[in-house]
Amino acid sequence: MKKVISFDLDGTLVDARYGDMVWNAGIPSEYAKKYGMAFEEARAFIRAQYESVGDGDITWYEIEHWLERFSLDVAPAELLDRYAEHIVLLPGAREVVGTLGDRYTLVIASNAARIFVEKELGETGLSGCFSRVVSATSDYGMVKKQEGFFLRLLAELGVLPHEVVHVGDHALFDHDVPSGLGIESYYLDGRDGQGGVPRRTISGLKDLLEVL
Ligand SMILES: [Mg+2]
Repeated sequence: MKKVISFDLDGTLVDARYGDMVWNAGIPSEYAKKYGMAFEEARAFIRAQYESVGDGDITWYEIEHWLERFSLDVAPAELLDRYAEHIVLLPGAREVVGTLGDRYTLVIASNAARIFVEKELGETGLSGCFSRVVSATSDYGMVKKQEGFFLRLLAELGVLPHEVVHVGDHALFDHDVPSGLGIESYYLDGRDGQGGVPRRTISGLKDLLEVL
């Protein structure tokens, strides 16, 4: 018997373009301005810096870290506000959350820092739909790739793995790790059809309504 549906946020409910704009346009443009560099050159440099850390490291998600590392004076909240128009729900998100919210406890389990999560839920008006909103990195000090993240979430919610469904767009963090713990996990793959990969895959959020 399922009780809880856990959603990733970026690339799952909210279009990943927002994060992309903050990280790959906002920070590089600040850098280009400060150091008198062409934007494209600044972006290539900064992306290489991000990649040298990788999304398995908590530092990847810490905007204060990067602003400090690049000696940029802009406040994180200002950067997040600047691109707020790009905070857009993905197709079906509102309907799926509304429909499943009548039958299940809904939670957010995101790797994004709390400042991003709150901004995105606030702008989309979805804050009130979730019983619990967890930023793995800000709240637990870990990345969702660690089994410990999901174990802690389960303990906090007082549920067993088979009582939870998780959905998200990262094959490892949102599928392989939780499903390894016995959580029914759905990998949201917009590219459609990853031949031969043994993952529970859906090509759109609304497919959740068919399988649950
Ligand atoms: Mg995601």
